Amino acid sequence: IMIAEIIAVGSEMLTPFRQDTNSLALTAELNKLGVSVAFKTILGDSMEQLTDCARIALRRADIIIFSGGLGPTEDDLTREAVASALGVGLTRNEAVVEALRARFAKRGITIQAINFKQGDVIDGAELLPNANGTAPGQWIATEYEGKPRYVVLLPGPPKELTALYADQVKQRLQRVVPQQHIAIGQLRMAVVAESEVDARTAPIYMQFTDVQTTILSTQGEIQLHFACAKPTIEEAQARVDEVLSLCEHEMMDFVFSADGESLEQVVLLMMGMRHLTLATAESCTGGLIAQRLTAIPGSSRSFLGGVVVYADQLKTALVDVPKPLIQQHGAVSEEVARALAEGIRTRTGADLGIGVTGIAGPGGATLNKPVGRVYLALADANGTETRELNLTGDRERVRWFTSQHALSMLRH
Ligand code: ATP
Ligand code: MG
Repeated sequence: IMIAEIIAVGSEMLTPFRQDTNSLALTAELNKLGVSVAFKTILGDSMEQLTDCARIALRRADIIIFSGGLGPTEDDLTREAVASALGVGLTRNEAVVEALRARFAKRGITIQAINFKQGDVIDGAELLPNANGTAPGQWIATEYEGKPRYVVLLPGPPKELTALYADQVKQRLQRVVPQQHIAIGQLRMAVVAESEVDARTAPIYMQFTDVQTTILSTQGEIQLHFACAKPTIEEAQARVDEVLSLCEHEMMDFVFSADGESLEQVVLLMMGMRHLTLATAESCTGGLIAQRLTAIPGSSRSFLGGVVVYADQLKTALVDVPKPLIQQHGAVSEEVARALAEGIRTRTGADLGIGVTGIAGPGGATLNKPVGRVYLALADANGTETRELNLTGDRERVRWFTSQHALSMLRH
């Protein structure tokens, strides 16, 4: 597999105000060809740093793409730096200079001597005409320390860069990159720690040296991403499927999706298939579970609705939680969660009822009930299942993780 390095040139991208987005667009394109982007560098307009960076890249990457620094000003140094790193000269191309002259004349602007440096071509480079701007790109197929290297210089403005890549660079890369097809796969897991996923799946995915595996953690969700490049898509897909199903089997209790669907979507799909309806009675999550479910189009098929019963008297008035039960066990208790789930189920006639009560913090903790203590209950025709959670983190995190756990309970 060929390795690429992208070098984004421009001091503005080292400020807090500008982002390098060109490298993202280039990475997407390179990946389509089966090229892996192994390094990305962002650097300012310094001749010395640019030259250093070019040398390092020439040593470690097969394909090096520069973005920016092809303009006419003093600080546009990419051409000079790449020539210097390759140990070759620059030759002014008269056709480019003429085109610049004509372009300026047409717009009635006097051309300055400095503009001509946009016609400087690295010796051995092929010029890539730029239909959207003044600076042409450059393509260099060369050798560095005995290894074949492809160096591409592209202008910084995103429109010019993407057009030039599509019109000129892609076809040239296709000729030199061995044909590869990339298959990808992903497993999504809820309510499990990243460290546990890694400890259990690493022994599996490490054996697949031809599959690139990445573990990603977002709030209450862990994802395993797999990618494999092979001469045919079938070969690549077979390898991805193999490692994916082994990891899926290992993490069976936590995996909710192997094809990209969200937890909400999976839950609704399952309820839909089983012709089950659901209603919720939420306290500490304040309707978050209902919100997440109703965000999915078509959720009305399974989700009847829910109530936010924050105050004790509403728990009693709207969901029939017995007042003495609250007095005896406290509003945050397994008993009240159970009564919430059963109450909302009975009141609405839903097949499933969810009840949630907990201490989201930062206040509200008691001696035996700390912040993060949550009780969940799921009631159905056969009975009620409850769960005690002891979550960490701030209010937002406690509430979100509670909704993750509640949706996960519904999945089973
Ligand atoms: P120009 O002839 O316009 O000077 P150039 O090749 O010298 O072209 P730069 O001067 O580096 O390119 O960048 C021109 C503009 O393009 C920048 O002001 C910035 O807005 C945008 N740009 C440059 N590099 C990037 C990048 N990596 N990602 C996103 N935008 C970029
Ligand atoms: Mg510039």
